[in-house]
Amino acid sequence: MRVVVIGAGVVGSAVAAGLTRRGAQVTVLEARTPGAGTTSTSVAWINANNKTPQAYFDLNQAAVWAHHQLPGDWFFPTGNLEYAVSDEHKEQLEARVGRLIGMGYAVERVTARRAMALEPDLVPPPTGTEYVFFPGEAYVQAHRLLGRLLGEARDRGATVECGAEVTAVDATASGATVTLADGREFTGDVVVTCAGRWTQGVAAMAGLDVPMLDPAVSGKVTNGFLVTTTPLPARLSRVLTTAGLNLRPDGGGRVLLQSLDLDDHADPAADVPAGILGQIMGRLPGVLRATEGAAVERAVVGQRAMPGDGLTVAGFADPGSRVYVVATHSGVTLAPLLMEEVAREVYGEKSPLLSTFRPGRFADGTAGPAPTPARRPGQQ
Ligand SMILES: Cc1cc2nc3c(=O)[nH]c(=O)nc-3n(C[C@H](O)[C@H](O)[C@H](O)COP(=O)(O)OP(=O)(O)OC[C@H]3O[C@@H](n4cnc5c(N)ncnc54)[C@H](O)[C@@H]3O)c2cc1C
Repeated sequence: MRVVVIGAGVVGSAVAAGLTRRGAQVTVLEARTPGAGTTSTSVAWINANNKTPQAYFDLNQAAVWAHHQLPGDWFFPTGNLEYAVSDEHKEQLEARVGRLIGMGYAVERVTARRAMALEPDLVPPPTGTEYVFFPGEAYVQAHRLLGRLLGEARDRGATVECGAEVTAVDATASGATVTLADGREFTGDVVVTCAGRWTQGVAAMAGLDVPMLDPAVSGKVTNGFLVTTTPLPARLSRVLTTAGLNLRPDGGGRVLLQSLDLDDHADPAADVPAGILGQIMGRLPGVLRATEGAAVERAVVGQRAMPGDGLTVAGFADPGSRVYVVATHSGVTLAPLLMEEVAREVYGEKSPLLSTFRPGRFADGTAGPAPTPARRPGQQ
């Protein structure tokens, strides 16, 4: 089977790898360079922690498991330590922990002593703080994961075209032809679009309606600040989630910082404001010792790939279609699962895990409402 994959983010790279495992002749068309889209601005925290409804939780939980089946030096299965100081955060955490335990998710309530043993440079939070450890969670270095996936696809014969911007998709009953801005054409038995936040435009080329929240509109649902420090003499081994600051190691002693409560100010058309940078960096010494005077190495506004109802889109537009659409938030978490499940569907089998995420829900009116801007601690 010949398959054209549009987009070489972490999702397209995973799908390409999965398809080549099944013997497909794959061509990946990437408008810029692999990983240049949202994959380059991700916390890359692997979790199903605050994912609802049940079908979306199940998908993410299966994906966390899939990461553990694909170990490599990009994968850090060190868990997530969350602590709650305020009554409001404690209530949210308590409710989430109860729900997650009921769904069979790995959750451990831990003491302050155990939390300090996990992260010795934690600034001791006040007495009465609640600590929860999620041992099955992880983080990845997203580009290295992408390189692993795309490398496997290339090893199995895939061709990767960079600077290959798709401008038209013409589907027929027997296949689909994709045209690039430079006029070149690629024909496949199936085209899989993995165009991330550009999905609405690419799907429209094939006559499909797949609404995505507009990432050009500033605000916390679609955008988020990410700050990476210079290398620091602090010990941090895992994702650490607190009310005002989420952090994780970012290679070579660097720390990646995220303050979700500030993301309402995130405007992808502007640099990260100095005041926001000051606030995020100012919170770090309150959470992690030996970080006073830390400097910023990189500060960006990440733009999420967010389908109109906030949930994954995966499937053929209709049973006879030759165009398969994949678009999702949490794409780093989901990539190793989508690798297998999308390939399986392109080859004609049904994936029970993907059955509630069909693109047709937008056309037939069964899609839910757009996600509300309220994000809670523990949400990426
Ligand atoms: C601030 C922030 C934090 C996040 N944190 C997490 C997290 O902790 N855990 C997690 O799992 N996820 C997280 N995410 C989400 C995750 O990063 C994304 O879901 C994932 O990277 C999307 O991958 P993708 O391959 O779908 O999209 P992309 O990486 O954007 O790839 C799409 C590719 O398609 C290409 N393309 C688009 N249009 C065309 C065209 N016409 N022709 C050819 N190529 C085209 C683009 O150039 C791009 O390279 C976060 C996102 C943000 C913004």
